[in-house]
Amino acid sequence: MDIPTLRLGEFKIFWLNGGHFRLDGGTMFGAVPKVLWEKKCKADAGNTIPMCNDVLLVKTPEHTILIDTGIGNKLSSKLLSIFQVTSPWSVTDDLSTLGISREDIDMVLLTHCDFDHAGGIVMHNKQGEEELSFPNAVHYIQQKEWEDVEQPNRRAQSTYWPENFSLLKKEGKLKIITGDIDVCTGIKLRYTGGHTRGHQLVEMHSGGETLVHLGDLYPTHAHTNPLWIMAYDNFPLEVIDRKEEYFKYYQQQDSWFSFYHDPVVKACKLDKKGKCNLFHTAV
Ligand SMILES: [Zn+2]
Repeated sequence: MDIPTLRLGEFKIFWLNGGHFRLDGGTMFGAVPKVLWEKKCKADAGNTIPMCNDVLLVKTPEHTILIDTGIGNKLSSKLLSIFQVTSPWSVTDDLSTLGISREDIDMVLLTHCDFDHAGGIVMHNKQGEEELSFPNAVHYIQQKEWEDVEQPNRRAQSTYWPENFSLLKKEGKLKIITGDIDVCTGIKLRYTGGHTRGHQLVEMHSGGETLVHLGDLYPTHAHTNPLWIMAYDNFPLEVIDRKEEYFKYYQQQDSWFSFYHDPVVKACKLDKKGKCNLFHTAV
């Protein structure tokens, strides 16, 4: 399958396969009635809908960066069946297809630490041992998120899995940040909160163009309405406020909006009413 690609000024962005699974449609749309969300996303007999976990590869003139890491290759057969994984994680293979090795990745920007975003930080190698998937990369995580990784609350315990993080500190590849920072020319991390306590977004600028990756604030193009939020959101009112704020700010800049969990739309531009202009593969 072709790897979807977008050129943003001097940057090239690729959507890599971080694993496909199915989640309950109700949890993905929270308080939105099924008769409304099903117009955008058809559920099966078990009420599940298909979801991607698209790892963004960003090639800049100086850096080779990943945004989030997908579900990884460490899921037990029981979890593979619970989450109905229909296509396994193939990020390292996708990188090879593009002529890039996992050692070439120099930064990993984590929007947050749920297993579907952080599961690919540590992988099983051919001998079945755990190692960092991107051994030379500095991994950027917000301070508040890291606090919850180290001491997860009742709800976070089921999704912040210690095995996804154990090697980061040990191998000196963790960078804990606070608030908004520029990670390199044209790429900024902004603290958002909302979905989790330490969630962050990634903003990119090159050649007069902008792309914003809103992580789980905009999991799919069906979530651009500020009130269409997930039952997984930990601070729902905060999510609604942030979504309104970021939509206004980035729509005015004619920015691209990209999606991590969308099986169809990889990125789009939005009109003033929040309607998508679709984009699928090569531009
Ligand atoms: Zn997610």
